[in-house]
Amino acid sequence: MTAAEQWEDHAACRNHPALSPEAWFQLENGVPRGDGAHALYVCRYVCPVMRQCRDWYRGHHAIAGGGWWDHLGKFRDTDHSTMDMYQVAAYLGQTPRRIQTWTARGLLNPLHHRHGRNWFSVTEVMALGRVRGPIHGTGDAYRLHLIKNEQPCEKCQEVHQGAQLLPVA
Ligand code: SF4
Ligand SMILES: [Zn+2]
Repeated sequence: MTAAEQWEDHAACRNHPALSPEAWFQLENGVPRGDGAHALYVCRYVCPVMRQCRDWYRGHHAIAGGGWWDHLGKFRDTDHSTMDMYQVAAYLGQTPRRIQTWTARGLLNPLHHRHGRNWFSVTEVMALGRVRGPIHGTGDAYRLHLIKNEQPCEKCQEVHQGAQLLPVA
């Protein structure tokens, strides 16, 4: 970062290719949901200025800095080695209902139940992500590549380029 640059210039949420700015405010019952869970993923695992954001951002009801601010403006951080069901769903590109089904079938095993929610090991979720994710060559898979800041695989790139070439009328 040069002296002339601000940390905000490096914010992963700025002009994000897959998530709208509103995603960083998508909290339900005080917890990130849907695109909010994706935004939390970006803050925690992708953004190079997570630390500065946590130190300098002041707000309410916003996802930022690897956690989120609640309605009292209190920062809520969770153990970075665990994810709740909504974050798991976001990471794997699945619906929360499917994560519930996988948990019931023993495909995913919660580490513990706290604050009314199951918490899963990030290591286990990442391992599962290598075999269970959206099918590559689909829009969902392409979007997930962007959220994880990965170079989209060839299959996803082909489909994305094909989609851009479709006539608009
Ligand atoms: S930590 Fe999240 S909210 Fe903060 S700058 Fe990075 S992406 Fe944006
Ligand atoms: Zn892909």
